[in-house]
Amino acid sequence: MFATLSDRLSDTFKNLRGKGRLSEADIDATAREIRIALLEADVALPVVKEFTAAIKERARGEEVSQALNPAQQIVKIVNDELIEILGGETRRLRYAKTGPTVIMLAGLQGAGKTTLAAKLALWLKEQGKSPLLVACDLQRPNAVNQLQVNGERVGVPVFAPEPGNGTGNPVAVAQASIEEAARKLYDVVIVDTAGRLGVDAEMMQQAKDIRAAVNPDEVLFVVDAMIGQDAVTTALAFQEGVGFDGVVLTKLDGDARGGAALSIRSITGKPVMFASAGEKMTDFDLFHPDRMAGRILD
Ligand code: GDP
Repeated sequence: MFATLSDRLSDTFKNLRGKGRLSEADIDATAREIRIALLEADVALPVVKEFTAAIKERARGEEVSQALNPAQQIVKIVNDELIEILGGETRRLRYAKTGPTVIMLAGLQGAGKTTLAAKLALWLKEQGKSPLLVACDLQRPNAVNQLQVNGERVGVPVFAPEPGNGTGNPVAVAQASIEEAARKLYDVVIVDTAGRLGVDAEMMQQAKDIRAAVNPDEVLFVVDAMIGQDAVTTALAFQEGVGFDGVVLTKLDGDARGGAALSIRSITGKPVMFASAGEKMTDFDLFHPDRMAGRILD
């Protein structure tokens, strides 16, 4: 996914190689190339500016002027700054101290929430947890069924309104699911909520109501990495409308240019916690900033 960014950066570093000392002009040219590479990868402009300013400042410092191999030192700086911008350490799930942990998913329709809910359930099951999936997307006619099919694929039960009662109240379903989980000793409840194709006040209100009713330990904003610059706008709308603790990037297997991964943490201040990269239920893992930086600089 980061092929273009990676190619451009390696060309940039190639130009530096063999230089014993870096002149101000070398640093400027390198910063310019990095800026173009990031913009081409759909990274948001304020993030690009901040990133290149940090690189320039460090490139002028002692660690580069004293380095035996300045080009290599610049690559290291870019790597450090990429890790920083991607959030540093992997942020892991916080589990409730008592009773079931509640994880609520929010995001636009098509972001990959329902798929992700099942992937997360499988991942949790593999960690020894006993998850319960909850179908609160009662807007999209097929969403409950889709979650049931996915739940079956990963062997995790789905709590849903009775068939024929598809117009039920998602807040009531969410509340009832927590009681069910406490009764049947499920330890993680994953609440899938409704999305719309675009940001919509009614959808936000519904997500906000569910949030208030179930008081989740984690609200995860699920976003399709393929939507590029729009990912940031959508993230900001959800941050204001519902609020969230972490981000899940989906469709990282597509030919997205990676900008969303670089921008979201910087702009929302919330960490990317998970990466979802494919149609298979196992195409899912924690998001590792250092590995992602490594892939970009590969
Ligand atoms: P929701 O509307 O947010 O619940 O989104 P869905 O889970 O229904 O996903 C929308 C579409 O994206 C479906 O066709 C999924 O199969 C597909 N999808 C979801 N996650 C991924 C992913 O990580 N990679 C790819 N390639 N497709 C995905």
